[in-house]
Amino acid sequence: MIYADNAATTKMSDEAIEVMTGMMKETWGNPSSLYMFGQKAKEALEEARGTVAGVIGAEPKEIIFTSGGSEADNQAILTAALIGAGKGKKHIISSAFEHHAVLHTLEKLEKEGFEVTLLDVHEDGIVRCEELEKAIREDTCLVTIMYANNEIGTIQPIREIGRICRDRGVIFHTDAVQALGHIPVNVADDNIDMMSGSAHKFHGPKGVGFLYVRKGIRVSNLIEGGAQERGKRAGTENLPAIAAAAAALKTAAGDMDKNAGLLSAKRDRLIEGLKEIPHCALNGDEKRRLPGNVNFCFEGIEGESLLLLLDDKGIQASSGSACTSGSLDPSHVLLAIGRVHDVAHGSLRLTIGEDTDDADIETIITAVKEVVAYLRSFSPIWRDLEAGVKEHIL
Ligand SMILES: *Cc1c(COP(=O)(O)O)cnc(C)c1O
Repeated sequence: MIYADNAATTKMSDEAIEVMTGMMKETWGNPSSLYMFGQKAKEALEEARGTVAGVIGAEPKEIIFTSGGSEADNQAILTAALIGAGKGKKHIISSAFEHHAVLHTLEKLEKEGFEVTLLDVHEDGIVRCEELEKAIREDTCLVTIMYANNEIGTIQPIREIGRICRDRGVIFHTDAVQALGHIPVNVADDNIDMMSGSAHKFHGPKGVGFLYVRKGIRVSNLIEGGAQERGKRAGTENLPAIAAAAAALKTAAGDMDKNAGLLSAKRDRLIEGLKEIPHCALNGDEKRRLPGNVNFCFEGIEGESLLLLLDDKGIQASSGSACTSGSLDPSHVLLAIGRVHDVAHGSLRLTIGEDTDDADIETIITAVKEVVAYLRSFSPIWRDLEAGVKEHIL
């Protein structure tokens, strides 16, 4: 089995599993309890907070543990929206290819009278700082742009975006779920005011993440109740998961240079191999992308069929095609970089990890070549393209 869907989730590391089960067995007290046993849990919680803060260049009290990346995105956007509304500022800037945790939250705010500007991400999948500068208005209360895209892996000019926002006095949030643990992220260097993270994208457990909020910004609650997380996120903390998340992040950050170098070499070989397939295109900039991300469109095929046939060959991948995502429209990310519907339907995302070896890469290349050729052999669209009835786009 070759697992090439690390952007969807990653396997928990043995270390994270050990930390998590250790906590479950030994440190299962409630961190809010005052007796010794509770206080031990509290210590472990604060140690985890310190670890996460240390990795991203923040202070411990700037970290709020959440149930994951989606919750962190929701809370960040709500926080900025309420601060903005209090000052009569109801304009938000984001990009067209954000995660749905951001886009759907923004849609909800539009119904509440907020105005949202979505920046173009161009053919290379990267926002332009000049366009951001032009889009900022007197009443802009938030800029939220992801660090790296989850489908095509493109990395945004976050430091410059942060600088622009800081200069213009606008709160800047970034969904860094795909970036954390994979490429260097530092909230101070990158001028970030709020940032979302999720543990299961860096070999930690699912259902746990965090929101970084720079001190001085008044955080709004999504969940009301007890005084956990300095009153900003009620509910007894999921300490085993939080401790495992912190351990996983620390290890990922420590191994980052080594892993990123090895991974990007394998990524580049995979791209080179798949480019040999006729009438295909890489989605997103070739170099300014996450070390493990490869995303292609192949003309004349359905991504869904491609996935199923690859699965038969023991390869797990993903697609931005309609059927897999349960909607009729193809991926909003691929449409945002200008792929037409027909082409966007024939997409394949391969996100490799540290345990994908060189032989796996060659196996994937051979398998994708075979499957694409096979699917095209009975595709009516491909027949029309080859007969010249329809024109090739790629
Ligand atoms: C996975 C992901 C999320 C959601 O994180 P969860 O912890 O699964 O809620 C948000 N944003 C991006 C970019 C992601 O890749």
